[in-house]
Amino acid sequence: MLFEQLNLIDPILKALIEEGYTNPTPIQQQAIPIVLEGRDLLGCAQTGTGKTAAFSVPILQLLDGRPRNSRDPKNIRALILTPTRELAIQIDESIAAYGRHTNLRHTVIFGGVSQKPQTDTLGRGCDILVATPGRLLDLMQQRYISLDQIEIFVLDEADRMLDMGFIHDVRKVIARLPARRQSLFFSATMPPEIMQLADTILTNPQKVAVTPPSTTVEAIRQELYYVEKSDKRALLAHLLNEHKVPSALVFTRTKHGADRVAKELLRTGIKAEAIHGNKSQNARQRALSNFKSGQTRVLVATDIAARGIDVENLSHVINYEIPNIPETYVHRIGRTGRAGADGIAFSFCDTEERAYIRDIHKLIAKPIPVVHDHPYVSAAGSPESVAAPAKPIKPQQNNFQPRHPQGSSSQKNKKSWYGSRTGGKRPAFNS
Ligand code: AMP
Repeated sequence: MLFEQLNLIDPILKALIEEGYTNPTPIQQQAIPIVLEGRDLLGCAQTGTGKTAAFSVPILQLLDGRPRNSRDPKNIRALILTPTRELAIQIDESIAAYGRHTNLRHTVIFGGVSQKPQTDTLGRGCDILVATPGRLLDLMQQRYISLDQIEIFVLDEADRMLDMGFIHDVRKVIARLPARRQSLFFSATMPPEIMQLADTILTNPQKVAVTPPSTTVEAIRQELYYVEKSDKRALLAHLLNEHKVPSALVFTRTKHGADRVAKELLRTGIKAEAIHGNKSQNARQRALSNFKSGQTRVLVATDIAARGIDVENLSHVINYEIPNIPETYVHRIGRTGRAGADGIAFSFCDTEERAYIRDIHKLIAKPIPVVHDHPYVSAAGSPESVAAPAKPIKPQQNNFQPRHPQGSSSQKNKKSWYGSRTGGKRPAFNS
C-alpha cells in the first residue's frame, strides 16, 4: 500500500515524501483511516512500529481541515500525552516534519527545565500540544493551559505511564478534558489495568494491533553469551572491538550499573556515555545527541531512560544484564533493526540470570543461539547446561484482532518498511 491510497491531503503527502516514506507501516495503514473518520482508537503497538505518524498524520489533517471552535488562538486543539521527555521531543519533531506544509502550530512541554520558554511559546498560540503529565498539570494549575477546547486527545505508551507511576496524573488530566472529543489510546501491552483505563477514556473504539513482540524478535540476529559477572566488562570491550561495532545501546538494570559500565569503557578507550533518570535533562539530551551524531559509540542506559530513544542506524543492542521481565528483552532488542535496518542483539548471562533467560525463551518460543567460542565463556555455559526451552507458549495475547491482517507492500518503493528486516516479507500478525 502507498500513502497516496490513504486519502491524505497534498501538504501532508508532500512532507511524507520529503521524509522518504512511501509505504505506510501496518499501524499507519490501519489507524489513519479510523482516525480520519473521527473515531476513537485503541492501538496495541510499541515504539518502532511507526505509531507516531499513525496518530500525528491524521490529527494534522483533521485540524487543518476544520475551523477552530474558539477564536482564541491560545486554545489548544489536540493534546498528546506521553511519559518521557525524550518521547515528547521526538513526537513534536515528527509533527514538525509531517506538518511542515500546514499552518498548524505545535509545541512540546516537559519537566526538568525552565518553564518560561514553554509558557512564552504557549502564549503565542498552539494547535497541537505534546506534553508529559507532570509539567502539563503544573502549567494547568498556573492557568497557562486550558483543556476546554481539546478536540483530539492521545494517550501514548499507556503501559509505561502505569510503570512510571504517572497513572494518577493521567487521570487528573483526563478529568479536565471536554466530554465531546476524539480519543486515541496506545499501549505496547494491554494488561487488565490498562484495559480499564482505556474503557474510561474511549467511546466505542476501533481496535488495532500490530507487531507483536515475537515478530520483532525474529527479525533481529540474537546471540547469547554465558559469562561470569566479573568478566562482563571484558567481554563487552572484546565484542565491541572484535565485531567493529559502530554503535551500541547497552542495557543495565540500575543507574549505578550504567555509570560503571560507561566509565569502564572510557578507561579502555571506547567513547561511551550513560543515560538514566538521575542525570539532568540537559545531560540526557546531550548524551543522546552525541550518540545520534556518532560522536559517542556506546550509550549505556537503563530501561526507563532508553524508552522512546529513537536512533536510526543503531547496529547493536547489548543486554549487559538480562532483564527480569521477559517482555523487556523484546522491547530492548526492538531498538535495533528499525525502519528496515539489520539488527544484532548480544545478551550476557551470568549464573544468577539463567532463570530470566528461561523466561525469555518461553516468551519468544525459541532459544536464543548460544555463542560458545569467546574468551570469557563461563563453566556453566556448555551446550548441555543450556536448558531446553519449555513448551512454547503464545508470545503475547492481544485482546483483539488486527483489522487488516493481510495486505502487501509494494516492492517498487524506495523505502520499504519491511525491507531487509524480513526479506521483504510482511511479518506475521498475532491473531
Ligand atoms: P515510531 O514507532 O513512531 O517511533 O517510528 C519509528 C521510526 O520509523 C521513526 O524513525 C520514523 O521516522 C520511522 N517511520 C515511521 N513511519 C515510517 C514509514 N512509513 N516509512 C519509513 N519509516 C517510517
